[in-house]
Amino acid sequence: MDFLSKKQEFIFRNSKDAIVRVHVMQVGSTPYDIWIEGKMKKYRDCVTLLEKALVDFDRSDLPPIIVVANKKIETGGISSYNHVDDVIYFNSFYHTQERIDHVIDEGTFAAQDLSGIIRHELGHKLHWDAVKRFYRAHKSKYNNIEEAKHDLDAPVGELCSKSIQSR
Ligand SMILES: [Zn+2]
Repeated sequence: MDFLSKKQEFIFRNSKDAIVRVHVMQVGSTPYDIWIEGKMKKYRDCVTLLEKALVDFDRSDLPPIIVVANKKIETGGISSYNHVDDVIYFNSFYHTQERIDHVIDEGTFAAQDLSGIIRHELGHKLHWDAVKRFYRAHKSKYNNIEEAKHDLDAPVGELCSKSIQSR
């Protein structure tokens, strides 16, 4: 497995609300956009598992996948979509099929396999992509994207009555 040597820094807020910095390198020997925090076997095994799961997808639909250490994510979650950088974080703790099967058995994702988990994260991405388009189209109405998201996520009935009122 070769690695493209230039490291990139990503910063995110983890599930315990701590600001975390990771330095990752891109995996060169894969058709997918996968970045890893280290060269240890667990990272390479994650890449292999991800490659198997990603064959079902159109590559252009996938954001970069950033494989990071469990201690950075904190709560032991397997994956998370980050809308600021438009990336999926993947926890390197899940570097064996057994560990992935275990998290699937727990049923948090309603997924059958790792492809299902990635599809779940892509659902979050599609949602945020819609929020970003909505925010760009209505920028003067909102102070920030979270406010725009709040309106977009409001029940349809509420949105309808609002647009009637504004006429
Ligand atoms: Zn989710």
